[in-house]
Amino acid sequence: MQLYNNLSAKERAELIEKAGKERLTISFYKYAKIGNPEIFRNHLFLAWDQFDVLGRIYVANEGINAQLSVPAENFEAFKNHLDTISFLENVRLNIAIEHDNFAFLKLKVKVRHKIVADGLNDDSFDVTNKGIHVDAEQFNELIEDPDTVLVDMRNHYESEIGHFKNAVTPDVDTFRESLDLIEEDLKEHKEDKKLVMYCTGGIRCEKASAYYKHKGFKNVYQLEGGIINYARQVESKGLDNKFIGKNFVFDQRRSERISNDVIANCHQCGKPADLHTNCANEGCHLLFIQCDECKEKMDNCCSTNCQEIIKLPYEEQKAMRKGQGNSNDIFKKGRADHLPFKKDLRNIFDTLKPQ
Ligand SMILES: [Zn+2]
Ligand SMILES: [Zn+2]
Repeated sequence: MQLYNNLSAKERAELIEKAGKERLTISFYKYAKIGNPEIFRNHLFLAWDQFDVLGRIYVANEGINAQLSVPAENFEAFKNHLDTISFLENVRLNIAIEHDNFAFLKLKVKVRHKIVADGLNDDSFDVTNKGIHVDAEQFNELIEDPDTVLVDMRNHYESEIGHFKNAVTPDVDTFRESLDLIEEDLKEHKEDKKLVMYCTGGIRCEKASAYYKHKGFKNVYQLEGGIINYARQVESKGLDNKFIGKNFVFDQRRSERISNDVIANCHQCGKPADLHTNCANEGCHLLFIQCDECKEKMDNCCSTNCQEIIKLPYEEQKAMRKGQGNSNDIFKKGRADHLPFKKDLRNIFDTLKPQ
């Protein structure tokens, strides 16, 4: 069953039947010029609300980035509506491997400056001059090539729980940092190496590949539809799976398992574990990996300090948080020094540097 680009009527019917009354978890993006994102946003919200779509959708002058869930029985209507929008006709839908009816709880369609916070000045390079898109089969071949450097375009907390074998996984908090780090590391190999990149659903590579071509890299490739689509193709076409561990996703599910390998460790006791959690202390909210035993022992907290705080009356906790920074730093704080088994990914990057 091919689940990207056009789903045939038969494939759609199969998908809906298989899901039964369940919701399907879907993501897609498209770079396109949108003149009035506000009007487009309202149009989407009114239409999708009727289909009981839930999710987080960003709309900007540069396009749309959507992560959502839709009841299986409304999938057909949803897809038909997408096809009425010229630049979304037959857009590739990344359909999740593991569905969760609670992946999203609300429909939020937001107008943003950009659909991905990439930190790039798009006027400085041609964003349409992208890398070569490869499917799972081509990707598997490419990464066996000794001249290939395979780069994970995601952040440290994503690659920590799962990545492609032999991928370079930069120890970065942001996409922008990653771009510079990789360029610096590969500056001697702009012409002789093949730069092959991947991310969750492909959106980050759309910009990254254009950026690297602009920076003089001659052979730039990107995994079409990212890890989500790769996993689907591996399954449907019976290909070799080169991805180990879990794919980090940005909804309540947190991740989807792609292989049975557990490649990360509990940040508190060091035992194999790959489940991200947020510290139960709302004033901390640190994102970290915690095993079931530590979860119980620590009351889902990252430290004894936080454990003490959550025992205080709620009003007192609120008073303590006053004037503190916002919790958007949660991923950064994932590096917190008090976690004894936080992995140092920088070492991985050094050892995998091409010779
Ligand atoms: Zn533990
Ligand atoms: Zn904490």
